[in-house]
Amino acid sequence: MKIHEYQAAALFSAYGVRVPEGGPASTPAEAEAVARTLQSGPFVVKAQVHSGGRGKAGGVKFANTPEEAAQKAGEILGMTLVTKQTGPQGRVVQKVLVSRAVNIAREYYLSLTVDGTRERVVLIASPAGGMEIEETAKTSPEKIFTQEIDPYLGMTGYQAREMGKKLGLSAAEVKQFIPLCKNLYRLFTEKDCSLVEINPLAVDGAGDLIAADAKVNFDDNALFRHADVAAMRDPNEEDAREAEAAKYDLNYIGLDGDIGCMVNGAGLAMATMDIIQSFGGSPANFLDVGGSATAEKVAGAFSILLADSKVRCIFINIFGGIMRCDVIAEGVVEAARKLAVKVPLVVRLEGTNAEAGKAILAGSGLNIVAAADMADGAEKACRLVKGASA
Ligand code: GDP
Ligand code: MN
Repeated sequence: MKIHEYQAAALFSAYGVRVPEGGPASTPAEAEAVARTLQSGPFVVKAQVHSGGRGKAGGVKFANTPEEAAQKAGEILGMTLVTKQTGPQGRVVQKVLVSRAVNIAREYYLSLTVDGTRERVVLIASPAGGMEIEETAKTSPEKIFTQEIDPYLGMTGYQAREMGKKLGLSAAEVKQFIPLCKNLYRLFTEKDCSLVEINPLAVDGAGDLIAADAKVNFDDNALFRHADVAAMRDPNEEDAREAEAAKYDLNYIGLDGDIGCMVNGAGLAMATMDIIQSFGGSPANFLDVGGSATAEKVAGAFSILLADSKVRCIFINIFGGIMRCDVIAEGVVEAARKLAVKVPLVVRLEGTNAEAGKAILAGSGLNIVAAADMADGAEKACRLVKGASA
């Protein structure tokens, strides 16, 4: 799960990591009010979307007065920010962060993440701050330093000190850098993060270290033990289809294609996506309705597929074992009664109660194309979509 910069900054603060004072605003008037609570300018007004690269996309602006902060907020709020990370459709900005601008003397990159290969949390730092770390990794990898953290010892002082020296920090700066690394590591482990990133970590005019940007991602599998973290979720930033699927406890992942897939079992669901690709098609989603789905859950899943405007054909591929084919069919018909079904359904039902399922679908009046097997179904779905676009 991702959160906004203003939320990450509040977490940093709670863990003793210095951030510029400031707060979120949803309107220009609110932005002006936040700026007034800070002693004096200049201020920085930043788009709050779950994406980096905001600076380059015009989502970070400076202001000298509270009135100007309001004006800049007015320019950013409501804009569709297109960054490298948002995809071409971009994100509509609904909030900005107004904070005291840092007088940046030097910029560094600092992060903690999990390196799956090493099975360790790693500290990553670079003197090439403020730039995209992915770009630095390509052009000058020698400027990126990494340090494995032992889970039993945690972040040790000497590791942080060594890293500070590699960055070329002065003795006074290293003194601040050590507790900074330790505090970030405490945040990372206590809140079950998958990423904590400061880019740029700034050294300001007074020689103090301060986080001029804040990014924190969490491990979804650990959210159950962090109600405070889960409460920071912003549904505006999530795929609407996935948010809806979460309500029904479905294993659903939205994709960009046009063939909606309803499948039981994660393995079969993945194989279905592969076989669609191999026939030249493109799946609109991954969906595993699970082994013990009720007709209601199936109806929910089918509604999500129908509501997706990109979907031009639905491929129902069910191998009934524990899941009964008639339950799937009932769910499909139930959802079809509520929502108009304008796309053809290619149906492959096999296994437990397959005949009963086929009979229910046949009697439903829906536009159904029967498939003899999985490959036949995938091929038919691909042909229907191609035919529709031709
Ligand atoms: P990102 O582009 O989404 O990573 O957003 P950032 O918050 O990192 O802002 C982009 C860039 O704007 C940074 O790399 C800095 O160079 C600059 N910037 C951000 N905040 C400040 C600030 O308070 N003071 C100054 N001088 N520059 C800032
Ligand atoms: Mn940044």
